[in-house]
Amino acid sequence: MNTEEIWRLADAAKGPMIELSDRIWGMPELCYNEHRSCAEHTKALYDHGFRVTENLTGIPTAVMGEAGEGGPVIAILGEYDALPGLSQESGVAEPRPTPGDGTGHGCGHNLLGSASMLAAIAVKDWLKANNIPGRVRYYGCPAEEGGAAKGFLVRDGAFDDVDMAICWHPSAFHGLNEPLSLANTRIDFTFTGRASHAAAAPHLGRSALDAVELMSVGVNYMREHMPSDARIHYAYLDAGGVAPNVVQPKATVRYLIRARDVTELNQLVTRVRKISDGAALMTETKVETRVISAVSNLLGNKVLEEVMQRNLERLGPVPFDDLDRARAAEFQATLSAEDISSAWRRAGVPERKGVSLCDIVVPRDAKPEKMIGSTDVGDVSWKVPTVQARGATYAIGTPGHSWQLTGQGKLPAAHKGMVHVAKAMAGVAVDAFKDPATLAAAKAEHAERMAVQPYVCPLPEGAKPALGMSLAV
Ligand SMILES: [Zn+2]
Repeated sequence: MNTEEIWRLADAAKGPMIELSDRIWGMPELCYNEHRSCAEHTKALYDHGFRVTENLTGIPTAVMGEAGEGGPVIAILGEYDALPGLSQESGVAEPRPTPGDGTGHGCGHNLLGSASMLAAIAVKDWLKANNIPGRVRYYGCPAEEGGAAKGFLVRDGAFDDVDMAICWHPSAFHGLNEPLSLANTRIDFTFTGRASHAAAAPHLGRSALDAVELMSVGVNYMREHMPSDARIHYAYLDAGGVAPNVVQPKATVRYLIRARDVTELNQLVTRVRKISDGAALMTETKVETRVISAVSNLLGNKVLEEVMQRNLERLGPVPFDDLDRARAAEFQATLSAEDISSAWRRAGVPERKGVSLCDIVVPRDAKPEKMIGSTDVGDVSWKVPTVQARGATYAIGTPGHSWQLTGQGKLPAAHKGMVHVAKAMAGVAVDAFKDPATLAAAKAEHAERMAVQPYVCPLPEGAKPALGMSLAV
């Protein structure tokens, strides 16, 4: 089955990349603190002879490796950050957190980075074997969860000389990743009031906590009057202390605001800011804001999507075996029937009961239900033509960001899915290198879209990556 040269090259390089994925799984690190994980990826790049740029655009846990000479530049994007509260023993289908701080790879980014690196290695070897001019780059992008590093990497020039980008995400289904995602931004609102004895001198206090609560009341009333695709969620970072008998002098709330595109997002952000000003006015407090991150919605590229679909179909479904399916079924047994049905609907594929692992390539004409999150790949897709796959690595119905997802991140099925999707990504790069007309058409389509709506960086002037930020607050 693995008859194509690029697939053979991926198979030849897969062993150490599977080990890399398992090591990253075992050292889960959060948002901009991926020092060990980034060091592992950096070492792998050096070991395979890439020209390495560490500390990419001044972000200590971002790295880029390039191989090949001349020709077009194709970027393959990887990630390696984990999530708080999602540690889980490998392969165990009941909640069993591992000792430690609770961090775990509940979004499969251990696989994401390693498969992208595998694809880049296979393409590098293919360029060399065929003496074809062209450069392949692996971008190790940190802080996808909560820090949106790719937006900063784009803004600071890391993709300026790139011709196209390829990416993937672990999933229950195998196929093209439809370019559907919301633009979003995280903004911290910090209110400052005046402390006072809550009983003896309440009239002298001005409560920052009241301001946060009033802000949220205002925003919650606004929900009735916002576009239906928009989403707003918030978390208290600092509720002003634990003493109810002290008027809280300081309080911080983090808002995560999502909308269909950056224009709609900015309109919504302006309204939320007005509400925060109103809350400060009502409570005689002051409000300061800090933008933590901002990402654009994904921009599709039909030319590259067709190339990706062709590569996925040439390869066929992931070669899972009965043991893989049995283990996935154990995880499925911890899910509700609704979890499972909803996953099929989101993929746009008719449900088949008892199927625990994806056994198809999702057809191009599937009609997925629109349930969308956000990704910082969005900003890369506005900068250069970008295409994404999703690779089946876990049981159908497994919720994103769950202990079940962490628990399946090192299973043989996950390894098979990761290698399979790496072959598809590498195949797309090979097709683009072999046929300059494809790349030219992808770039023309991108330019056409930019002419209608140019890219506007969603980050405000002077915004910096939140390097010291703790996601676990
Ligand atoms: Zn993810």
